Amino acid sequence: MRTRPAEPYETYRKHAVDNEIEIVQSKMCGCFFCRSIFSAREVNDWYSDERGMSALCPECGMDAVIGDASGIAIDKPLLKQMNLLFYGEETMSQDPTAARVFCGRYIDGHITHKPHNEELFLKYLTILADSGDYQSMLAAAEIYEQGGEFVHRDAEKALAYYKNPLLMANHEALCHLGAMYMRGEAGAEFGKKEAFECFSKAAALGSMRAVYLMADMYFNGDYVAKDEKFAFALLEQSYDEIYHGYVYDHDYVDLFPEFNYRIAKCFQYGFGIEVDEMIAIRHYLLALLGLQYPGLFDLARTPMLKDVNAEIKALAKKNKLQRGEPVFDSDTFYDSFIELNGESNPGTIANWNYNPKSQEVSFDMSLEVPPIITDIGNLWVGFVNGPIHWNFGQLNGCVLNSDRFDSMRFGMDESWTLAGKPGDSDLPSAIFTFMNEPKKIKIKTLGPKKGEDK
Ligand SMILES: [Zn+2]
Repeated sequence: MRTRPAEPYETYRKHAVDNEIEIVQSKMCGCFFCRSIFSAREVNDWYSDERGMSALCPECGMDAVIGDASGIAIDKPLLKQMNLLFYGEETMSQDPTAARVFCGRYIDGHITHKPHNEELFLKYLTILADSGDYQSMLAAAEIYEQGGEFVHRDAEKALAYYKNPLLMANHEALCHLGAMYMRGEAGAEFGKKEAFECFSKAAALGSMRAVYLMADMYFNGDYVAKDEKFAFALLEQSYDEIYHGYVYDHDYVDLFPEFNYRIAKCFQYGFGIEVDEMIAIRHYLLALLGLQYPGLFDLARTPMLKDVNAEIKALAKKNKLQRGEPVFDSDTFYDSFIELNGESNPGTIANWNYNPKSQEVSFDMSLEVPPIITDIGNLWVGFVNGPIHWNFGQLNGCVLNSDRFDSMRFGMDESWTLAGKPGDSDLPSAIFTFMNEPKKIKIKTLGPKKGEDK
């Protein structure tokens, strides 16, 4: 490699640091990271550290901006020269810090997504991947597998990364590799058998995604013998963790709709479980909620979104349900919290108002973690923040012992209990007993345990 002269570029480079006054006095600026030239008025973001305030490039978000008030004649050849010197592949592979900064900012959306920047993103991911950074390898492989916003798919490159020894025991890579085998993108000699092996390995490594991918194979009889009951059982055994992770930690964001969608299908069509259209609607609503999660925009999921909407519409028509505002009654309460039965999500009760004559109670309930509220009757689902005003009727009785509680329990009889906080009185915080079973959903949401071993 030809060594490039460091001067005068080292001096020029200093103008990218602590340059607030200089940029304000400039007309035009240039970025020697992405090689853009732009009006100084476009600089709106600054990076502040012990060296001072440094302009961030409006195009790529890097602190590599120099203004013409510095006296430097800014043009494309100069920016190219500086780019190669300070951010060239050779420099970057020795010190990939800048590559890491850029990739991080690109993923976080601070950098304009346009062809040139995506190209840079991929280039730097590749540099990081080649230096043994498995996260970057995975990110680059995913872009090559699915195609980027501007870059075309390249199955060969994707496969090369997924098969890299560094990713051999990475469950995400195994799921992707298996999916590519399933789609026949790795040539004729890699098919469903190899896909199944990948998913099994990934599942053994704890991957929840592998669980539903394997379930799909059992539903369809791909490579394995078709077994809907087992497929359903696979989904069922992981669902609690997915649901809790989603509600409490906003985890499994991309898996939540996938699981709910499949479980809804099972209950709608009786795949491996008795038909129950109300439970099916509930899981379709949850899938819909999951699909609308902010930031989860993914064209690949458009068919699922369309299908979820169509199925909800069909089931609603059949069951005479209409979309409406949620009604916070006992049905909704039960449909919303059944999944969290016994799970701690502490809360408080206020404005308790029990009328034994009308057998009604109303109260405001606040929970530490905002819950998902599901009102099947009104085809409504959503996270609800802050206190919720609940109204229950048809009560046999109810009692409030404490205005704070730790969790909710649904009894097999017609009673619901708000369990007290540990260390508080041994009495439950509240008990509700109903005259008629107000429940629309069986106590075990996923599957009638009684009829299971028939
Ligand atoms: Zn730039």
